[in-house]
Amino acid sequence: MSKLTVSAKTNLLGLSREKMETFFVSIGEKKFRAQQMLKWIHHNGVGDFDEMSNISKALRERLKDIAEIRGPEVVSSHFSEDGTCKWVIRVASGSCVETVYIPDGKRGTLCVSSQAGCALDCSFCSTGKQGFNSDLTVAEIIGQVWVAAKHFGNVPAKMDRSITNVVMMGMGEPLLNFDNVVDAMNLMMDDLGYGLSKRRVTLSTSGVVPALRKLGSVTDASLAISLHAPNNALRDKLVPINKKYPLEELLDATAEYMGGLSDKSRVVTIEYTLLAGVNDQPEHAKQMARLLKNTPCKINLIPFNPFPYSGYERPSNNAVRRFQELLAQAGYNTTVRKTRGDDIDAACGQLVGQVNDRTRRSARYIEARQLDSTQDVPTIKKGAA
Ligand code: SAH
Ligand code: SF4
Repeated sequence: MSKLTVSAKTNLLGLSREKMETFFVSIGEKKFRAQQMLKWIHHNGVGDFDEMSNISKALRERLKDIAEIRGPEVVSSHFSEDGTCKWVIRVASGSCVETVYIPDGKRGTLCVSSQAGCALDCSFCSTGKQGFNSDLTVAEIIGQVWVAAKHFGNVPAKMDRSITNVVMMGMGEPLLNFDNVVDAMNLMMDDLGYGLSKRRVTLSTSGVVPALRKLGSVTDASLAISLHAPNNALRDKLVPINKKYPLEELLDATAEYMGGLSDKSRVVTIEYTLLAGVNDQPEHAKQMARLLKNTPCKINLIPFNPFPYSGYERPSNNAVRRFQELLAQAGYNTTVRKTRGDDIDAACGQLVGQVNDRTRRSARYIEARQLDSTQDVPTIKKGAA
């Protein structure tokens, strides 16, 4: 059974700078205590008040009575041969979500979840297939960064691998957990938090247009749009929220968000999962080139990552290349996302998070790989972080 911790104490891990200041003022302390606390938590990864040497013993004792610094419960950690790491994290609702770290040269990208499950049910996404379970709290979202940062800080052999980018591309639709995601992203970008530049924190959405229209008033993080189809008829089938907010509205809200950023050189990332025989034909690429002609963007093609009973297949490398070339010829900066962490089920769209199901599936996966003598057996180490 899952272990649920119910606590009336304020979890300081989930407080943005403003909320931390409000907290300290509300207990009769000076505002600068908020700065000290944020640095202890996010710069030093400290979760124990007794380690906070610049805070008086009396205040530390008081804090212990009314507050806590509680990170998410890490159920298991998995380390792929290609350097990808995955943490399975149990959230308050009892469900599990996944956080993935992908090293790539000097860059280290952390893929963070915003919800347990997802209500939007995109036809090719394994998270969507689970349905919606719960919104993550701010502490559970920023806690994923906290856990990963502590992991790298605590393992000297891996000190060269730090988090340079965060993408809200794990489980869930970030714009449907708006306030918590915004607070967490602002902590990622705050100098007293993780100090990441706004270019390096990206929110990915499948197109919740009303929330996207609000986003510009509360953050200037980077934006990625999950397009997946160049026309409404096809997108209605793949991304059902398109029936409510069709492409024209989505691209209009995207232009509004990008237009509101002070730095006009920034462009939106268009994500496009390629599904064999469904949206990967030359006419789709040409239609996409026409659709996006007024949208300054870079395009990221994601060859479909299969999961059991999805009903879809990954296109051949040739089909992917042909699609990419057509977009490049039309003048678009187009990259193909590498599949990473495949051996630990950490690739895009493979995040399921339900730990029992996951354990069974991983075991099946290892078994299948062992039977296939042409492949190396992946090394999967498990253990608490
Ligand atoms: N809900 C948000 C963010 C999470 S999904 C969104 O949809 O944008 C992150 C990206 O992975 C999205 O572009 C999503 O469409 C894509 N994705 C989902 N399932 C996939 C799969 N099986 N293979 C490849 N990409 C997938
Ligand atoms: Fe939800 Fe994104 Fe998956 Fe669609 S692709 S079901 S929005 S997580």
